Amino acid sequence: MIETIQQGYSAAEVREILRAADFAAQKHSAQRRKNEDHEPYINHLIEVARLVAGAISAPDANLIMAAFLHDTIEDAQVSRQELAGEFGEDVASLVSEVTDDKTLESHVRKHLQVVNAHTRSRRAQILGTADKTANLHSILSKPPAGWSQERRRTYFEWARSVVESYTDLDPHIAAEFQRAYSRKGEIGKAAG
Ligand code: ZN
Repeated sequence: MIETIQQGYSAAEVREILRAADFAAQKHSAQRRKNEDHEPYINHLIEVARLVAGAISAPDANLIMAAFLHDTIEDAQVSRQELAGEFGEDVASLVSEVTDDKTLESHVRKHLQVVNAHTRSRRAQILGTADKTANLHSILSKPPAGWSQERRRTYFEWARSVVESYTDLDPHIAAEFQRAYSRKGEIGKAAG
């Protein structure tokens, strides 16, 4: 009975989730994805939030908020402090866990994601996997402009090595990632 009562999100939580979505949309408004359509950045954030919401079995509004906000520190010049002030320490901490240190070179950052994967909290592992899954979907349907087939395949391999290094991965999001990864053979087959 208690479980039944606890299921679902409260109106206040839905409002907070939408406030995070709105904040992210504004912070990323000038940004586009790297594909040829120059998709609005918010498309990526909505997909990651949808994947997270679909994977978790118990309501976790903060994790969905963190999904919307996951690139604000890394790509939209938002500080951890600002996030904590707006959305609380838990959300800020989740976003920090999936934020790369941009002062490092790209190949170092990529390596550190693999090396540090096991130190991530269970919730950050869900978020990190949802982010990678969304990126695989993008590479399959709307690859970044100028990415060779080789580069797309290399990204798939790297994403898998990060996800495989997670030690406490939720099976639902793991399956979602695996479904996307298994389409690697489609790279280069369909137009675009
Ligand atoms: Zn992302």
